[in-house]
Amino acid sequence: MAMKGARSLLGKALVLIEHNNAKVSPASLSAITAASKFGDITALVAGKGCAPVAEQASKIAGVKAVVQVDSAEYDHLLPENVSKLVEKLHGAEKFSHIVAAHTAFGKSVIPRVAAVSDCQPIPDVINVVDENTFVRPTYAGNALATVKSEIDPVKMLTIRPTSFDKAGDGGSAAVTNGEACGETGGTKWVSDEVDDSGKPDLSSARVVVGGGRGLKSGENFKLLFDLADKIPNCAVGATRAVVDAGFVPNELQVGQTGKVVAPDLYIAMGLSGAIQHLAGMKDSKVIACVNTDPDAPIFSVSDYGLEGDLFDALPKLKSLV
Ligand SMILES: Cc1cc2nc3c(=O)[nH]c(=O)nc-3n(C[C@H](O)[C@H](O)[C@H](O)COP(=O)(O)OP(=O)(O)OC[C@H]3O[C@@H](n4cnc5c(N)ncnc54)[C@H](O)[C@@H]3O)c2cc1C
Repeated sequence: MAMKGARSLLGKALVLIEHNNAKVSPASLSAITAASKFGDITALVAGKGCAPVAEQASKIAGVKAVVQVDSAEYDHLLPENVSKLVEKLHGAEKFSHIVAAHTAFGKSVIPRVAAVSDCQPIPDVINVVDENTFVRPTYAGNALATVKSEIDPVKMLTIRPTSFDKAGDGGSAAVTNGEACGETGGTKWVSDEVDDSGKPDLSSARVVVGGGRGLKSGENFKLLFDLADKIPNCAVGATRAVVDAGFVPNELQVGQTGKVVAPDLYIAMGLSGAIQHLAGMKDSKVIACVNTDPDAPIFSVSDYGLEGDLFDALPKLKSLV
């Protein structure tokens, strides 16, 4: 890489930055906070047309150096190409930790790099005890495993964004251009379907209204969207059951196989609280639910619960906010 010879200028930990060519993603800001526990950070900004992101990354507190690799093969951050780049950079620099957020991007890249480096990746870390010891949920969040990694010379982690604050400004790192290392040729970007509704992002919304099978149809989800529109920074989430039924698109799914959210308030409407759903929302600060079945498991994790019909409760709630 172009960085050879500049080793002492780089931080010990490498953070893989996710972005949309305009901004560092909020999840990567959490990854920076997690990585700051390992010392100085090098931020890798790969992409096509990613200079504004590199500039922003250089100003984040804790970032000591930014390696920008602006080249066509990193457009859309295809994991095959990015992981090859990370491998090369690590080969030259020997980082102590390589960290990404536990998002579709981080989950795709980190295990690939770990496999090539013959290391054990440690996914979905929620707490850093020390530089070798990490806490992660297991069994859909029903147990916490504290794992110690002593043999691997580099720790490769994905971190749960909701468990770490977002890093703020305050850095003044130099941006260096790194060399691209070519297409792997294995995959190609075909097309993008992006939600451009302008609605708040589910993973970082302050309030989430989650709907389940109790809503009965996709049309009835309009009731939840109308409520969400009245609450500042409020997003709509859903259970897998309603995603599978085609009521709402799958980027709304909260849970073990969907998104993990931890808003200030989660309002659960007509969802039973299956263990796989709870895995995605039970760290919310306050949970409120409405359900006709008093034995629904959602009541056992809720701070406030209303036993009743959501079709009665929703209009009343809407008129109150
Ligand atoms: C490997 C695996 C992974 C999974 N991953 C996920 C995941 O990521 N996320 C996820 O959500 N699920 C996931 N699931 C599915 C999960 O097990 C449940 O099937 C699902 O969460 C149930 O969705 P639900 O609560 O909407 O439906 P139900 O369990 O059918 O609950 C509907 C609830 O609505 C209530 N209700 C009905 N009518 C009304 C009304 N008028 N007013 C108020 N309440 C009403 C009922 O009392 C009931 O409690 C996964 C399952 C597996 C096996």
